[in-house]
Amino acid sequence: GDPRAHLQVKGLSAGYGAFLVLRDLTLEIKPGLTVILGPNGAGKTTLLKALAGLIARQGEVLLNGEDLPLKTNEIVQRGVALVAEGRQLFPQMSVTENLELGGWLVPKAERARRLEQAFNDFPKLRERAQQLAGTMSGGEQQMVAVARAMMSAPRLLMLDEPSLGLAPRMVDELLAIAGRIAAAGTTVLMVEQNVKKALAVADRGYVLERGTLVASGPAKLLARSSVIREAYLGAE
Ligand code: ATP
Repeated sequence: GDPRAHLQVKGLSAGYGAFLVLRDLTLEIKPGLTVILGPNGAGKTTLLKALAGLIARQGEVLLNGEDLPLKTNEIVQRGVALVAEGRQLFPQMSVTENLELGGWLVPKAERARRLEQAFNDFPKLRERAQQLAGTMSGGEQQMVAVARAMMSAPRLLMLDEPSLGLAPRMVDELLAIAGRIAAAGTTVLMVEQNVKKALAVADRGYVLERGTLVASGPAKLLARSSVIREAYLGAE
């Protein structure tokens, strides 16, 4: 079968304390690039956090047919990586040091190989290898965060609003990077507010509102659907 990661989410509930954000959510993340769209507060970030084990969840989550564990470190070991909003880099450390931390569980020789791969995939970062992460632009830092996540060679990469706060040109670049990662075989699940641009690079999309799915389908079809056009793209 297809060696790429696919995720089946069945009856997922998650929230904060007694406050449920997601109720009985069922969806499937197939290989390729899937984008999760929806208004603020819809539960997009909550979905990624629940899948990454950062908050408790109920319901079934299967990664290539096997139960996804509940604990973050075990989830990471299954090949699931999350680039959270805000990036969480070590600002006083260099680009190289930040990347190496992404592969700290990996034997040294393999880590060096992956670092070289990261610099091949992100040539801009090679030029900045010794720069302190905290002194980089928002877009460059987002690139470091994505490259760091790729150092763990994930099967499933989750990106929470990678384009948040970036200039339009950097938005395009980050979304293109997400597309390339998916095309190279890592399944990508991305939350994005940039609806039009995200649907242009994605294979499929889901629209969440108040913790519930209101639309889903191939990205090209979603971009033309009335739900998306009226709520997110403005009637044209
Ligand atoms: P946004 O684009 O604004 O991040 P979102 O779709 O990602 O929107 P979530 O961040 O998942 O939305 O938030 C969903 C709901 O959960 C919101 O009502 C939010 O206030 C609530 N929420 C999020 N984080 C917490 C928390 N740590 N404690 C309590 N409630 C939270």
